[in-house]
Amino acid sequence: MEPGLYVVSTPIGNLDDVSIRALRVLALVDLIVAEDTRVTRSLLSQLNVKIPKVISYTDFSSVNVVNQILKGISGGLSIALVSDAGTPLISDPGYRLVLAVHLEKYKVIPVPGPCAAITALSVSGLPTDRFLFEGFLPDKRIARMKRLSALARERATLVLYEAPHRLKSTISDCIETLGGTRKSFLGRELTKLYETIHLSTLSELRSFVDADINQTRGESVLLIEGFRGKNSGITPELSKLAEKLSEEMSKKRVATVLAEYSGLTRREIYNYLVKTPTE
Ligand code: SAM
Repeated sequence: MEPGLYVVSTPIGNLDDVSIRALRVLALVDLIVAEDTRVTRSLLSQLNVKIPKVISYTDFSSVNVVNQILKGISGGLSIALVSDAGTPLISDPGYRLVLAVHLEKYKVIPVPGPCAAITALSVSGLPTDRFLFEGFLPDKRIARMKRLSALARERATLVLYEAPHRLKSTISDCIETLGGTRKSFLGRELTKLYETIHLSTLSELRSFVDADINQTRGESVLLIEGFRGKNSGITPELSKLAEKLSEEMSKKRVATVLAEYSGLTRREIYNYLVKTPTE
């Protein structure tokens, strides 16, 4: 094996999705750098790959770990980077390491394969010509609502990763900020036994998830159609805020304050306010 860092994708559920090349590379490298060594050891044993040395790496690992890997490559080692599932670096560790390997001018070799975002897009029925990978939204509700509001006029299909316990509240937050009529897609437990593939509007998706507790179990990707309208881009949340603030200050001031908060221009907000009497 040529020395370098092999960035290897692993299955997101169905083990048969591992590529022949990934199996070969994992069997031949001198060292595997893994997000969680136990998860990777278990995967390798299920795939019948002889387990080489495995060390742990996350983007919070000390600089010593990165230096140890760089030293290994400079000494002629082939090293594979894997995450627990899917493609490393996609909402998973690896960015710092890949950058460090590039900066030292060593080889970074992709061994592509499964990725939940791409898997979901490929079966969603939503436009795939442009998509925006958001990954996980912020945990705290205020930050999450702010992020969603900033995305309200985005025309590309939005790609969100979601933890099971937050799926319902995220769908509700999306309805509040983007409106319930947007087309959306839930890809749950993709490639696994209880796979869900569901295309509907956001409001219908909420009812679908409310009606079946199983839909909040397991791993999900949520896709939302991009903004299709021709209107001002004022979201329901922003409109409510504008209404409240207009009770306290002039429309010009409201436009200035909200322009900072929303990503829209002052003029766009002012035009909306003068066309929408709030008194
Ligand atoms: N690196 C991975 C990839 O390439 O997709 C993503 C890792 S991220 C830490 C884990 C998130 O990916 C889950 O919370 C879920 O949103 C999504 N995910 C992973 N596997 C999935 C699956 N089989 N079905 C649906 N979503 C999945």
